[in-house]
Amino acid sequence: MSIFVTRSSMPDYEDYIKEVKPIFESHHLTNMGPIYKKLQHQLMAYLGVPQLSMFVNGHLALETVFQAMGLKNCGGEVITTPFTFVSTVHAIVRNGLKPVFCDIKPDDYTIDPEKIEALITDKTVAIVPVHVYGTICDVEAIEAIARKHNLKVVYDAAHAFGVKYKGIGIGNFGDAAMFSFHATKVFNTIEGGAVSFSDESLRRSMHSLKNFGIKDEECIDEIGGNAKMDEFRAAMGICNLRNIDACIAARRAAAERYNERFAGVKGLQLMKTQQDVLPNYAYYAVVIDPEQFGETRDDVYERLKAHDIYARKYFYPAVNEMDCYENTGETPIAAKISRRVLTLPMYADLTVKEVDQISDVILK
Ligand SMILES: *Cc1c(COP(=O)(O)O)cnc(C)c1O
Repeated sequence: MSIFVTRSSMPDYEDYIKEVKPIFESHHLTNMGPIYKKLQHQLMAYLGVPQLSMFVNGHLALETVFQAMGLKNCGGEVITTPFTFVSTVHAIVRNGLKPVFCDIKPDDYTIDPEKIEALITDKTVAIVPVHVYGTICDVEAIEAIARKHNLKVVYDAAHAFGVKYKGIGIGNFGDAAMFSFHATKVFNTIEGGAVSFSDESLRRSMHSLKNFGIKDEECIDEIGGNAKMDEFRAAMGICNLRNIDACIAARRAAAERYNERFAGVKGLQLMKTQQDVLPNYAYYAVVIDPEQFGETRDDVYERLKAHDIYARKYFYPAVNEMDCYENTGETPIAAKISRRVLTLPMYADLTVKEVDQISDVILK
């Protein structure tokens, strides 16, 4: 049977039906109804964040933050990483802001704080780092730089659902953090996303900008879009949240098995275990050094495919090598890692037996 890179976590059918049944009585389908509010409060508790605004997807959640901060079309530059899903950079550009690409660290693939300051100009308004694969950025160094230069920090925490640093929910770092609840993520609401933040003044804007900028029936004071999470998706979230700890534990078992199988293999760089971090095992990435391993990343990808196993070249190409962002910024480490990285199948239902099957093909 085929093994794909991911498989969405689903609740029990009966459980979901029970959760959506009240909607058939109330006819309250969307516009921040009771199920939205219930999930919002459960997630604030789970993520340990003071404020949370939920969206129809993570991308629009991120796009909306910049506008809520007053940065849309301000002519500013935003320092970010090319080693991310394209959404991060699109969200910046679609706000009329200019992305400035900063290179990553070769060992954990997150933005290299030592390279940020050289990119700051008098136009820089924000830093948008990404917690790649759920591996957290150097949040302390980034905060120090942001404070020194008076910049906003918006984390793309799409991969980092439930991750904690020193016991603190990862959504508490920076001015705001975006989580994705897409079907392929650790926690899903089918499609969905959210932004966490602490600043009370962001709250009203975040809530109104996803609903056309409507403040009340007769007052529309901002030019917003429509990006509200509906009740059926919120119900999916409530059901999936009940199983989240078991899902993460299952991912952990799979990750540990991969680690065992790949320990000491020349030419395979595994993900780093981070100090003081409660991880979520969102992805399992290996970086393949073709000289030492004897095969390229693409060779391994194709061989897996021949065995009906579908890994993903994620992230490849680096965003600044994509057609729409061609040749912007010198980021040699991101370029190199993106050519060598392969994310292997990783999801809650992946069995240790399947991990062995995948590892056998890679190590053949
Ligand atoms: C998934 C993802 C997004 C976008 O989230 P959606 O919910 O799919 O819109 C943004 N950034 C990163 C790094 C992601 O992985």
